[in-house]
Amino acid sequence: MEYVKLNNGVMMPILGYGVYLVTPQECERCVSDALAAGYRSIDTAQAYYNEEGVGNAVHKSGIARKDLFLTTKIWVSNAGYERAKVSIDESLAKLQTDYIDLLLIHQPFGDYYGTYRAMEDAYREGKVRAIGVSNFYPDRFVDLAENVTIKPAVNQIETHVFNQQVQAQDILREYGTQLESWGPLAEGKNDFFTNGTLTDIAKKYGKSVAQIGLRFLIERGIVVIPKSVRKERMAENLNVFDFSLSDDDKQAITEMDEAKTLFIPHNEPEMVRLALNYDKNHNPKYRTTGA
Ligand code: NAD
Repeated sequence: MEYVKLNNGVMMPILGYGVYLVTPQECERCVSDALAAGYRSIDTAQAYYNEEGVGNAVHKSGIARKDLFLTTKIWVSNAGYERAKVSIDESLAKLQTDYIDLLLIHQPFGDYYGTYRAMEDAYREGKVRAIGVSNFYPDRFVDLAENVTIKPAVNQIETHVFNQQVQAQDILREYGTQLESWGPLAEGKNDFFTNGTLTDIAKKYGKSVAQIGLRFLIERGIVVIPKSVRKERMAENLNVFDFSLSDDDKQAITEMDEAKTLFIPHNEPEMVRLALNYDKNHNPKYRTTGA
């Protein structure tokens, strides 16, 4: 495994395993499989409702806590100093751990300045080893980074071959902030897995399209957290450290950048409303029987 050094000296694996949309029931099995495959970094979130599954798998794995890197994210419904503070303790309990390696603000909505202050306090108290943000476009990122004491260690944003985030990465660099990709396989959108350019390059190296897409990001120094519930794909996505892309192949992939999201942009009112209501619609706590 290769690591990146965050702006506070903490070492983070450049490749981890993400559990977005993994059901609470399946999460423990998936994370156990991922740990057995060799992953040591796990990315979850309060809004995935599967932190307990991650905690159970980690607990049962017998792997020393210091050898693991756990990320979770504070959801919008927990925004604001007081609620965020309580939610950090809830996440710690669900993850069955004394500290979170990386704690992120999931979305730049609600009182996220209050959230960040609670995270800074948790950092000072040793409950968290690094703090950062997710889905902060450059304008919101700069505003936050200019107004806080502890500069964000990470910004986790949509990044893949079709949306390479070149400008965002340059801005993050100015603050020593690490770019972490979500959706490194574009969630299969835009016919990612059958893309002609990627398929041709993959053949040359005896690798898969997924491996080429991940390797391209890693060679740009970007942290990736691909997700699969299938063991063989978990192993495949981890097996990207035994080859390097040639300059010509990197150039060909660079030219695939459309520099726009494949999802709903985070600065669209529709996205803001979706995020603000997400918990009500998805949290099992709010579901009525039979719904
Ligand atoms: P991804 O780009 O990792 O794509 C995952 C999908 O690709 C899988 O569901 C599977 O269908 C397919 N796949 C995976 N490996 C494959 C392989 N080797 N061959 C063929 N198909 C394969 O998408 P993602 O899950 O959205 O992103 C990864 C992680 O990023 C998430 O699990 C989550 O932890 C994080 N994430 C964060 C945010 C955020 O708002 N911060 C948003 C989305 C995802």
